[in-house]
Amino acid sequence: MGAALLTSCKMENPLLSESPLEYGAPQFDKIKVEHYMPAFKQAIKEAKEEIDAIVANAEEPTFANTIEALEYSGETLGRVASIFYNLMEADTNEEMQAIAEEISPMMTEFSMYVSLNEKLFERVKAVYEARESLGLEPDQLRLLEKKYKGFTRGGANLNAEDKEKYGKLSEEESLLELSYGKNVLTATNAFTLELTDESELAGLPDFVVALGKQTAEEKGKEGWVFDLSYPSYGPFMKYSERRDLREKMYKAYNSKALGGETDNTQIVKDIAGHRIEIANILGYSTWADYQLEERMVKTPAEVEAFLEQLLAPSLPAARKEVGDIFKFARANGFDADALMPWDFSFWSEKYKAANYDLNDAELKPYFRLESCIDAVFGLATRLYGLQFTPRPDLPGYHPDVKVYDVKDEDGKHLALFYADFFPRASKRGGAWMTEFRGQSIKDGVEKRPFISIVTNFSKPTGDDPSLLTHDELTTFLHEFGHSLHGMMAEGRYGSLTGTSVARDFVELPSQIMENWAYEPEYLRGFAKHYQTGEVIPQELIDKIVATKNYLAAYSQVRQLDFGILDMAWHNRTDVPSEATETFEKAVLRPSALMPQVPGTCISTSFSHIFSGGYSAGYYSYKWAEVLEADAFSLFKEKGIFNREVSGAFRREVLSKGSSEEEAVLYRNFRGHDPEPRALLVKLGIVNK
Ligand SMILES: [Zn+2]
Repeated sequence: MGAALLTSCKMENPLLSESPLEYGAPQFDKIKVEHYMPAFKQAIKEAKEEIDAIVANAEEPTFANTIEALEYSGETLGRVASIFYNLMEADTNEEMQAIAEEISPMMTEFSMYVSLNEKLFERVKAVYEARESLGLEPDQLRLLEKKYKGFTRGGANLNAEDKEKYGKLSEEESLLELSYGKNVLTATNAFTLELTDESELAGLPDFVVALGKQTAEEKGKEGWVFDLSYPSYGPFMKYSERRDLREKMYKAYNSKALGGETDNTQIVKDIAGHRIEIANILGYSTWADYQLEERMVKTPAEVEAFLEQLLAPSLPAARKEVGDIFKFARANGFDADALMPWDFSFWSEKYKAANYDLNDAELKPYFRLESCIDAVFGLATRLYGLQFTPRPDLPGYHPDVKVYDVKDEDGKHLALFYADFFPRASKRGGAWMTEFRGQSIKDGVEKRPFISIVTNFSKPTGDDPSLLTHDELTTFLHEFGHSLHGMMAEGRYGSLTGTSVARDFVELPSQIMENWAYEPEYLRGFAKHYQTGEVIPQELIDKIVATKNYLAAYSQVRQLDFGILDMAWHNRTDVPSEATETFEKAVLRPSALMPQVPGTCISTSFSHIFSGGYSAGYYSYKWAEVLEADAFSLFKEKGIFNREVSGAFRREVLSKGSSEEEAVLYRNFRGHDPEPRALLVKLGIVNK
């Protein structure tokens, strides 16, 4: 009876049973919170049994019985986890958060069950060592290498003594990262600028004053309060006419966790030191060498050369931009001898208002959400022949979610697409693409992907439709670009298809799509005033294009500085002996655009690289921009709707996942390596 009961529970749990819906679409209408915990427990048990079976296999390790078996293991767990964690972001509640806390240690335990499994690694290693003689296809070889590296990069190949050292260092390093992050948070929250005199609000627009008032009320203070969170700090620096207060804010913002009770100056060095030791144990000379091994750009020297290649022409252009702002400021009542960092945001905003008048309110009536959806889908039709058919009969996870059946040009089913546009309390902020299922082929049976896009566009109210800003349209195109990468996947191994590519490659398919938002021919096709039907005037398009490159060189140098600082900390074999602030100032002096301010430091609150997983990876933002600028330049040359170019992009990039080295995929599409000059041309920093 016990067994029968268990079976019936399993039958009733829509997370554990095969979905009877077309394509196996998730049964979101049947999933209830109480299904998750039993589903996770069952799925983890199943996954462990699959791992045990690989290890217990009496036959010699082969590609099929070890590497493929490992790749295919944990399918149920993957399905359960992807639904749960996607909904944690897009449609969460307190019960789910409580479940997440319970599940987290179970998942960690499971992943260690695999990664620290010595017998499993022995088999993987045996196949890896025989790889040359196995007659494997290129994607199989790639899968084998990735699986093997997945173990060795976590220390599987070390002797017992080094394994222990490695474990200890890793643990200490992650604790240091935690302390670092905690200090940044505490330091950020510790500072407030409390204003009680109305004269101190000079220059602030109503919405900024209202925000200051609200913050004061929340903190039980009189008057207006500004803090170091970006929505408070950013507008204050942009609009406040009080130079003394801007200076105070700037210095507070840029000295977070520098000295005092939340000091990160020594922690930064300790993190860098631990990373060097970890890299050395694993056989790499620097942390950057270790990190870059899995990226498209393979070596620290290449990253440094790349940053320098962009910096050299950008620096004089950025100095000119700063000079122009300084001249403008002087002509408008600024009487100091030099523009200081706390002046720049304020005067550049004034300069922008004087020279480019473009605001969201003027543009929004042309970007009705429904027209934008048609236009974004329509772009995929023009470039790739894709067709989108609404499927109201298939369940979404929330009434706002729209489900589409995506068909290829020949009518073949390609993917299901879940679009979730509007904000709600159960959804986090921002915009992202994700998948409920990736593409794969097993035993000749193909699974096509379930792709989802989640945004926070304003919801229609009463008679007012949802109108997007130009930024939101760009965001939509960006996330849709990731979606195309997922939808057009054509591989056999799930871990090598779709968006499962190197971090410095994954933004190419998304960022390239943003370009169309600036193309007059494309905009004119759909941007019509929602009340009058008038096509967007050329004058507005011109303004969109002109505003895009405002301060392009300045912003580029700022981003390059972060990349340079990141590499300075991570491409080294010893910890710098100077004080953290001194070290950083020396690194950034050659590219400084304004006087360096004593008592300020980026490194002590550079969470991206010291606690956010972007170490030796900050360059990748710029790298992705180069990839998309260079790739899009081919569309510019041959036509923005050219089917030959889009066809090649699909064949060589979008369909390939990471079944080959990303550098090879790119070269196959573009005919050459990524050309940094394309970005400089796009930003108007150099001429063609
Ligand atoms: Zn992205």
